[in-house]
Amino acid sequence: MEEIIGHKKIIDYFKLLYKNKRLGSLYLFIGEEGIGKKKVAKYIALLINCLNSQPPCFNCSNCLNILKGLSLDIIEVNPKNSIGIDEIREIQRRIQFKNFSLPYKVVIIDSADKLTTEASSALLKTLEEPPVNTLIFLITALPQNIAPAIISRSQRIYFKLSFLQVKKLSLKIGMPERESDFFLKIFDGRLSFLKDREFYLEKRNFLKGSFSDFKEEERNSLKEAVFLLMYFLRDCLIFKAGFKDKIINSDLEFKIKNYSQNFSLRDLEEKIKELFIIYQSLDNININLANNLIRAVLA
Ligand SMILES: [Zn+2]
Repeated sequence: MEEIIGHKKIIDYFKLLYKNKRLGSLYLFIGEEGIGKKKVAKYIALLINCLNSQPPCFNCSNCLNILKGLSLDIIEVNPKNSIGIDEIREIQRRIQFKNFSLPYKVVIIDSADKLTTEASSALLKTLEEPPVNTLIFLITALPQNIAPAIISRSQRIYFKLSFLQVKKLSLKIGMPERESDFFLKIFDGRLSFLKDREFYLEKRNFLKGSFSDFKEEERNSLKEAVFLLMYFLRDCLIFKAGFKDKIINSDLEFKIKNYSQNFSLRDLEEKIKELFIIYQSLDNININLANNLIRAVLA
């Protein structure tokens, strides 16, 4: 199993619950996308089903079946769109069957915020008579979209990572250290920049032209554009600081060099901060105002 970064307290808590036979039926894992909620749920599935006296061993037949995704007692839902009532009924049926091989059935519902209202009610019905030796993990980055009744019936577990742990995660996916430090600072240690970065690498062609105004219907693209501009300015900053080999948009080196000549390091840092403020408020401000603000920052 891939290494889990952080979340030791959560894992220790489940170890304690398991040891004292105090496991509940419904857990709601709340935290940013990519933080490791599902990994921890799987780890707990191993922990409570392992045959070894020091669980999880990752090596006994139960552990191996779970790790290979071969156990019928582990039920995973990874929805693309919504999770409807049919999917919950299917889970109910499977929960009622006798266990195939593992002591505990584990249901992991990813993006549980996609449960429809009917599906949420059906799930709550299931819990009126809690299924024996079954753990249900609901996983979400958007708890505000989950039915209040579910929230109140579940035990909520909040996932957080420290700056250092996010840094470790970013280095693990191959992000250069200087860049990792930079974005950790800008995004205040939030994880979303890791995801955005991949997106950025795909879409960065936009930067080859010059900034032109966005229309209301292009609001989403504008958000992307601002993010890309932050990366461009980040390169200007790094270029100016003398680390030419560390810039990401190496094909834009000429443009980066020209632009950074006009500003001090502090100016560039300030511009990135201002763009970030715009980026964060884009959903709430008038599109023309946004266009004008971006122009002003870039000028
Ligand atoms: Zn084992």
